[in-house]
Amino acid sequence: MLMESYDLVILGGGLAGICAAVEAGEQGANVLLLEKQDELGGSTVLSSGYMAFAGTDMQDTAGILDSTESLLADMMEVGGRVNDPSLVSTYGRHQLETYSWLVDHGVEFRSLEAVSGHSVPRGHIIDPHQAIQSLYRIVKQLPNVTVHFNAPAKRILKNTEGRIDRVLYEFEGKELTVLASKGVILASGGFAKSEELLQQFAPQLNGALRIGGSGNQGDGLKMAWEHGAWVHDLPYLNGTFGFHPTASGAVKSQGLAFYKGGIIVNQLGKRFVNESISYKLLGKAAFEQPDQITYQVWDQTVMDKSVFDDPLYDLELLRRRRLLYVVETLEELADCIDVPLEVLEETISRYNQGIQNGEDPDYGRKTLTHNFGKPTPIEKAPFYAFESTVAMLATYAGIAVNAAGQVVNPYAEPIPGLYAAGEITGGFHGAGYMTGSSLGKAAVFGRLAVQAALAEVPVK
Ligand SMILES: Cc1cc2nc3c(=O)[nH]c(=O)nc-3n(C[C@H](O)[C@H](O)[C@H](O)COP(=O)(O)OP(=O)(O)OC[C@H]3O[C@@H](n4cnc5c(N)ncnc54)[C@H](O)[C@@H]3O)c2cc1C
Repeated sequence: MLMESYDLVILGGGLAGICAAVEAGEQGANVLLLEKQDELGGSTVLSSGYMAFAGTDMQDTAGILDSTESLLADMMEVGGRVNDPSLVSTYGRHQLETYSWLVDHGVEFRSLEAVSGHSVPRGHIIDPHQAIQSLYRIVKQLPNVTVHFNAPAKRILKNTEGRIDRVLYEFEGKELTVLASKGVILASGGFAKSEELLQQFAPQLNGALRIGGSGNQGDGLKMAWEHGAWVHDLPYLNGTFGFHPTASGAVKSQGLAFYKGGIIVNQLGKRFVNESISYKLLGKAAFEQPDQITYQVWDQTVMDKSVFDDPLYDLELLRRRRLLYVVETLEELADCIDVPLEVLEETISRYNQGIQNGEDPDYGRKTLTHNFGKPTPIEKAPFYAFESTVAMLATYAGIAVNAAGQVVNPYAEPIPGLYAAGEITGGFHGAGYMTGSSLGKAAVFGRLAVQAALAEVPVK
């Protein structure tokens, strides 16, 4: 039997894979996209939908002055300056064009929010389902792009010259091999749902909720490792703070009231961190608290900043879902969350005085999030509390790639024929993830990997 043959085989149909498929299809390549699950979307469709872009028409309309330089400076700062600068600057060169490409391909950006790690409001919100479906509609119209569902890739194979040129996969009860003459693109996401890999690389996150696409088991990482791929950023694996302990991927039960002016207290009724820092770092601090139990606490002034239908700031939705304690006095609040009243009162009074004097004496909080906004005192009833914990939802560390998306070995040499994009790759975020940069990198590098594979030369 003749082996199936395509120019490119893409593993995984989240944002990186679907952007790659559209790009490749529109360039006239013959493409096969293999998706392990029975639908597209992976972690992308569970996400809050923030994308980090700078200099967009949406920012212009909102009167927000921004630049690529400022975006990249924030990204390097949040990443502890250990991000790979060549990946960050490549993102900078392509981010605005990618935003326009997404808009031109039917992706709707609903609104703009100030989100973690950014100096200005830069979280461009998509509905991830709408985005994936809109791109998939285009794929379906391209006769040169084939998508197989329930088709897990198992291994990637090299030819006798050492070039990756085939994929072994399962489909309709059979094990098949497909030829990929111009390359294989790994877009199979991270390993947030692989207990095996999390135990191996992030045992410090035992006890964190596991939220992410159910197909995201690190298959692509293992396939790349078999052929000598290097890894980046594994030491920086972190959870994300702000989920209710009952949270699961499908139902939104995350709220970040602290970025609107709430505080976070532990079971002793004490603050333990500057709440304006990245929710990844907040996750680390929360995990060190007694019994890992923490509460976000806020007042009506903060509640008034609830944003309808926003994935992170729809605090009223949390109230409707009965996930909040809502009370008229601090005494009742202390009782509900079972912390000593006098400690809670002292915590709030010290915090209020501190931020009013411009100097939080305990943790140095001056802003709402990153460098943006001013905190307000917690004083206006009713008062609110939201039990919050840490979730492992995206791994952000992974195989090493160069700026063209070529997978590289420990000597930074490309592994011929092998490309990767999206959450499976490491190096871009460094020590810290900046909100919106993961969906952003999936879209930017998904397309760039295709361009490099079809040109067979690195994209500048
Ligand atoms: C709750 C939550 C909120 C988030 N919020 C944001 C946010 O607001 N902004 C942001 O930037 N990031 C956010 N993230 C992270 C972001 O969603 C992901 O990093 C991003 O969507 C990854 O895209 P991807 O295409 O690389 O992978 P995915 O979207 O995960 O897609 C990978 C696909 O590969 C498939 N696959 C896996 N193994 C195989 C195999 N062997 N063969 C074939 N297919 C395979 C999977 O089934 C999946 O469909 C969030 C994540 C979660 C879980």
